[in-house]
Amino acid sequence: MPVLRVALDLPLHRLFDYKAELASTTDIGLRVRVPFGRGEKIGVIVDVVDASDWPQDQLKAAGEILRDLPPLPADFFRLCEFASTYYQAAFGEVVLQALPAGLKRLDPPERRNGRATRKPDPVEAPALTGEQASALAAIDLAGGFSVHLLHGVTGSGKTEVYLRLVEQAMAAGRQALLLVPEINLTPQLEGRVRARFPEAGVVSLHSELAEAARERNWRAAFSGEANIILGTRLSIFTPLPRLGLIVIDEEHDPSFKQQDGMRYSARDVGVFRAHQLGIPILLGSATPSLESWANAQGGRYGLLTLNQRANPEATLPAVHILDTRKLALQEGVSPPLIAAIKERLARGEQSLVFLNRRGYAPVLACPACGWISRCTRCAANMVLHLADRRLRCHHCGCEHRVPKACPTCGNQDIHPFGRGTQRLEVWLQGQFPEARILRVDRDSVKSRKQWETMLELIHGGEADILVGTQMLAKGHDFPKLTLVGALGADAALYAADWRAPERLFAQLMQVAGRAGRAELKGEVLIQTEYPDHPLFAALAEHDFPGFAAQQLKEREQAGFPPYSFQAVLRAEAPAMADSIAFLAAAAELSVVGEHEKVMIYDPVPMKLARLANLERGQLLAESYSRPALQNFLPCWREAIEAIKAPAKLRWHIEVDPLEF
Ligand code: ADP
Ligand code: ZN
Ligand code: ZN
Repeated sequence: MPVLRVALDLPLHRLFDYKAELASTTDIGLRVRVPFGRGEKIGVIVDVVDASDWPQDQLKAAGEILRDLPPLPADFFRLCEFASTYYQAAFGEVVLQALPAGLKRLDPPERRNGRATRKPDPVEAPALTGEQASALAAIDLAGGFSVHLLHGVTGSGKTEVYLRLVEQAMAAGRQALLLVPEINLTPQLEGRVRARFPEAGVVSLHSELAEAARERNWRAAFSGEANIILGTRLSIFTPLPRLGLIVIDEEHDPSFKQQDGMRYSARDVGVFRAHQLGIPILLGSATPSLESWANAQGGRYGLLTLNQRANPEATLPAVHILDTRKLALQEGVSPPLIAAIKERLARGEQSLVFLNRRGYAPVLACPACGWISRCTRCAANMVLHLADRRLRCHHCGCEHRVPKACPTCGNQDIHPFGRGTQRLEVWLQGQFPEARILRVDRDSVKSRKQWETMLELIHGGEADILVGTQMLAKGHDFPKLTLVGALGADAALYAADWRAPERLFAQLMQVAGRAGRAELKGEVLIQTEYPDHPLFAALAEHDFPGFAAQQLKEREQAGFPPYSFQAVLRAEAPAMADSIAFLAAAAELSVVGEHEKVMIYDPVPMKLARLANLERGQLLAESYSRPALQNFLPCWREAIEAIKAPAKLRWHIEVDPLEF
């Protein structure tokens, strides 16, 4: 009797066999109901074979094979196989996470057809700038696999290059997949794509969609009915029958890296997928990741550059660095910044004050006894949110009412220390009572609707001063915005995290790029205690290549990625001693000695050592050879699986980690 080999959504590195009387190899790629434990699961048929390695009488019979969708194609399985091997993730988990929830339900709800969205009036494409035209000419859509990095300053018209490529791909009968960091932060892009291609069938795929809409969009993408797929990281796994182009916008953005469950980089999976299909992939950014930049410098990726803003009236803003050690700050704001805001108010222009910390103050403290508002579940402070009088942990989400007096000594005079966006907003309102101030952060903008409303207010000139976190930094064009001030951005500069400068540079460059997008000239004031850090000189010159060269030199000397390759084993348990003991056992496994090109460091607590009552440790594995690391990881994982660990201990491996 035929045997189905089925992928199930389980963290186990194996397939599951079931008997199926009438099955044949044409069923490969279909979903199937199978008995599992005391219940049932939906799995995906990966193979149909004549006999199982398991004794025939132990095999259970599969349930119904679902035929509402055509089979998942072979290239989809190859992509999942790559991700499973590269990231040490269970194959079944990779396969099933790529399907929308509705297709994994045992009791699928009735689906009605979606409302047809109103077609916008088509918008004409602008004539390309010379730089855009050269970039476009360098990419040959019919020429097979290629990776290009499009490095374009903010406002240089990278999106226009993407749209032209998408147009070409569609003209050749192919689908285009456009990945963006966080879709609810970029409703403008979706609107632009729909307006340019009203007839194309544009679908979006992201986690904010309701289940039914997501399934509908996924089906349209999978059937080939949709020509343009606009999605966040997970959409990189969507099976697409006619895929001819992949574009990854803001390719440096950390949100392309999934940090839980299956830990993968959508950008890197994208490059593999393009290679596998023999199609071009374009990575775009004003501040590319140093990994991609090094690849472009080394000639492995083609480098395309846009140095000028596309709007001929717009120029890059003037960036000034303010040395806060020499200035008398009020609530963290320097006199030159206050004066600059005043000028904008007088001229009816907008200012943006960037502070990447939400809440009122990062901590509440008692000066009498030294009590501070620590989270009882995490190694972190509870953030004071005065707007709703709560103390909130930004790591585990737990919260309390703000105490009226110190919980330890009863002192009623407890103070907030440091500042977040709420405090800044209150203070600015006191300084500029006549100004309309709008705070934009995850507390004031919780849904896509709220975000769209905010954007309308800003565009309509209904706000004079914006106070915001990095939410405001991405891809927006506010024509009246001519001043950007950045506060407290440099705290991380001399921290142990060697990726901090890269992240800070990208953030500041991006937020600075909001100023002067139209004919009004922009100005950027950056307050720092470390004005001599080379990062700021490069920022003032809009010199990403200079900054990248300096950072890459440091990384090369220190042997950090991209000059070495890393994976990290993490363990969490109620007690740190258990986590560390487990990691120590993993470090001493005999496979470690057998792979001499891989170096294992000592187990250490993670930076956030305690999260939601679990104490977390990690162990770094590093090699100068990617293949050596990749050969080592599966052997290591198998050996780790055999370690006897306390029942409450959880562990995982992350390849190419961004955070420690
Ligand atoms: P980026 O994504 O590189 O930051 P955008 O693609 O958003 O830049 O373009 C910035 C602005 O320039 C937008 O308002 C866009 O409409 C405009 N723009 C883009 N290309 C052209 C062009 N060739 N001619 C005129 N304006 C353009
Ligand atoms: Zn006290
Ligand atoms: Zn917490």
